[in-house]
Amino acid sequence: MGSGGLGPAASPPLHQPARVSIYRAIHSAPSAPPAWLRPPAPGPAFLPLRGSSSRSDWLSGSGPRPRNAATVCWAPGRRARSRGVGEVSAMWAVSVLGAVLSRAPGRRAHSALAQLRGILEEELEGIRGAGTWKSERVITSRQGPRIRVDGVSGEILNFCANNYLGLSSHPEVIQAGLQTLKEFGAGLSSVRFICGTQSIHKDLEAKIAHFHQREDAILYPSCFDANAGLFEALLTPEDAVLSDELNHASIIDGIRLCKAHKFRYRHLDMADLEAKLQEAQKHRLRLVATDGAFSMDGDIAPLQEICRLASRYDALVFVDECHATGFLGATGRGTDELLGVKDQVTIINSTLGKALGGASGGYTTGPGPLVSLLRQRARPYLFSNSLPPAVVGCASKALDMLMEDNTIVQSMAAKTQRFRSKMKAAGFTISGVNHPICPVMLGDARLASCMADDMLKRGIFVIGFSYPVVPKGKARIRVQISAVHSEEDIDRCVEAFVEVGRQHGALP
Ligand code: PLP
Repeated sequence: MGSGGLGPAASPPLHQPARVSIYRAIHSAPSAPPAWLRPPAPGPAFLPLRGSSSRSDWLSGSGPRPRNAATVCWAPGRRARSRGVGEVSAMWAVSVLGAVLSRAPGRRAHSALAQLRGILEEELEGIRGAGTWKSERVITSRQGPRIRVDGVSGEILNFCANNYLGLSSHPEVIQAGLQTLKEFGAGLSSVRFICGTQSIHKDLEAKIAHFHQREDAILYPSCFDANAGLFEALLTPEDAVLSDELNHASIIDGIRLCKAHKFRYRHLDMADLEAKLQEAQKHRLRLVATDGAFSMDGDIAPLQEICRLASRYDALVFVDECHATGFLGATGRGTDELLGVKDQVTIINSTLGKALGGASGGYTTGPGPLVSLLRQRARPYLFSNSLPPAVVGCASKALDMLMEDNTIVQSMAAKTQRFRSKMKAAGFTISGVNHPICPVMLGDARLASCMADDMLKRGIFVIGFSYPVVPKGKARIRVQISAVHSEEDIDRCVEAFVEVGRQHGALP
């Protein structure tokens, strides 16, 4: 045992595990100090050893300390010379115990934990008090338009998944996952560059690049990781990154990690972006970073304008397409297809965890040398496990299905339009434009949360979003339309909103 501030006198005999002893000392005090702390009565008396001025001196740290624990012992063979020795020894033991109790690492850890609990409870209470507590409902079925939820009887209509194309539980996607699981195993137990690359990973990367018509692609465990890896690997202190203020948290975090000069332009504000681009002219590279579709508001980045400015100020454009890949644009390629700027967006990051099968995984697709650099430098790629084969199999199948036939993409646009127009006609404010993310704006966090609870009582699963996920005072219920919702499903959802909205005073 190291000194650890305890002082040698408190050291137990060597055979005794120190932490256990200290724990016992604390929990048995004061009535029964452990044997190794008790005075030697009636046997050999304790005397200070040569070199130690007095017991209290070295306990308090003022006198010279014995060199090691072994030198502190009950001096055998020497007898107590006066009747007071027993009492002195008892007093000494009490002071040793006091020193142990006040300095013991176990006790310090205990009080640190108590302090931590206090801090955490206060923080959690604050969240509850603000009405922004996010509880999780437990789904007991597969993901889909109809689900089962723990504690709720019967089937529930699900309007809050990113399962835009309904592929999360598509039989062909599941079958592909099972097949890949059987053939390639549960996982690689490795990162990609050590021994974690299988043929299916390379095939999926080629498929993604082909889908987006880009030179190459690199897979990550998630799009959060793709965003965390990109900026740091690509940009240096000589460069500049210009980011929409409402970009997804993972873009914000990714940018934080890089050493480039950071500019934040107001949400969708092209005049502000232009001003920031002018400021950034002195830097080597300029990268404009934006979500393609903003997940909290359902609005879409003005990519034509962004690309026009990027071209004027010699900048690159990066788009996060998590809420666009698979369903925006005529063939579901995303925002760049929707807005006709495919050849002007340099880098795309997106997810396999939403429209493309919904399992997990993310990617970057873009210029070949960029992808090669990411394989060398992107930390979430270098230091995290390969995507599990079953996940690769599901995503690969989802892409095949989408490339074969995109009628599903068209049907989703029509359903989105139905929901948005009916809700607006009923008097609700729906944010965003023609995106299957339809935020029903309510303002108050508690109202959003209570209305979501009452929707569930009517068999509709939606979720209230509040600070810090959205700005304070802008709480909402985010409804997400899927291509596999029927028109009846959508109408039922609108009817429930109207009933619950009236009940809570959100509608007249
Ligand atoms: N980017 C955006 C815009 C997102 O909405 C999300 C997920 O919510 C992510 C990135 C992270 O994606 P993933 O779930 O693959 O980590």
